[in-house]
Amino acid sequence: MKIDSISSWLPTFKDNTSPLVIAGPCSAESLEQVLSTAHALKNIPAVKIFRAGIWKPRTRPNNFEGLGEIALPWLHEVKKQTGLLTTTEVATAKHVELCLKNGVDILWIGARTTANPFSVQEIADALKGVDIPVMIKNPINADLQLWIGAIERINNAGITKLIAIHRGFSVADKLEFRNDPLWRIPMELKVKFPNLPLLCDPSHITGERELIQKVCQKAMDLDMNGLIIETHLNPEKAWSDAAQQITPEKLNTILTELALKTQYSNDAGFEAELNILRAQIDRLDNELLHTLQLRSNVVEKIAFAKIEQNITALQSSRFDTLMKERLDTGKTLGLDEGFIKEIFDSIHEQSVKLQTDLFERSKK
Ligand code: PEP
Ligand code: MN
Repeated sequence: MKIDSISSWLPTFKDNTSPLVIAGPCSAESLEQVLSTAHALKNIPAVKIFRAGIWKPRTRPNNFEGLGEIALPWLHEVKKQTGLLTTTEVATAKHVELCLKNGVDILWIGARTTANPFSVQEIADALKGVDIPVMIKNPINADLQLWIGAIERINNAGITKLIAIHRGFSVADKLEFRNDPLWRIPMELKVKFPNLPLLCDPSHITGERELIQKVCQKAMDLDMNGLIIETHLNPEKAWSDAAQQITPEKLNTILTELALKTQYSNDAGFEAELNILRAQIDRLDNELLHTLQLRSNVVEKIAFAKIEQNITALQSSRFDTLMKERLDTGKTLGLDEGFIKEIFDSIHEQSVKLQTDLFERSKK
């Protein structure tokens, strides 16, 4: 697949030295809002592109669905006044046509659209013969092939100025975030297409502004090429995605505090492989921690049941059986016996402590 580097079409950006930052509100709300946000953002050197949603894909009807066409000239005004390039989401051929007519610099395909090959093909057909950069968000479901398919469809239409955006995946068992990052998936994309620029969207991953910094850092640690971050002058009052937007000032702080990697292996393949494996470890550790939390909740329930029945906190025969079973299972799984014994001794000690604490408290 022929893919152009970002610096080939955005000369103010240097590939591989610092992250490309795209910022702006989730939705365009008024000319005044769009312009004042853009003016605040243009002072942050890493910000090269201004985003604002004009057509908003909302889960339920009757939520704010974007101002539509009337907001397109506002993006042009942003460019005129600040020099920032502009980008907005397109989901239909009509959106593409209107953006091209109004001089929008870059288009992006949203997560819900990427999940639908008919829609992606419609956009691809509308882009034939057009030279414009297109960013493709991952589909909402955790399907790498669907993401790759969308990138290929746009590429087959002749678009070589491509960027992939990782915005997390909708999963049934939500842990920490609005959308689970499943870092392994963007890392696999990177291994498959090492020249495809990959940005992270911490706003839609976290759904919560307090968590944005840590996801930005993680994206940098994984060698992603940049960030797209929802930014609003008055985030609490935003018409969409209020909980996850940050002020331009906060954005500046986050970017200043990012620790950027200075040491790279010369072998890009090695780095990417290592990152996939580390992402797996992070995911597994996270699952371990959540499992421990669930286990503690059950231990508490047991303690309350025992208190109710007036029986002792500790039944040693139960622990002997439990340990024997865990060691047997561990052995079947090829895990070191000493290691498993140590872990379950420690887990048991904690359970007893939790139970005896609850017993103590129930007496008071
Ligand atoms: C957005 O960027 O405002 C948006 C709607 O994103 P996504 O398609 O990732 O949900
Ligand atoms: Mn949004």
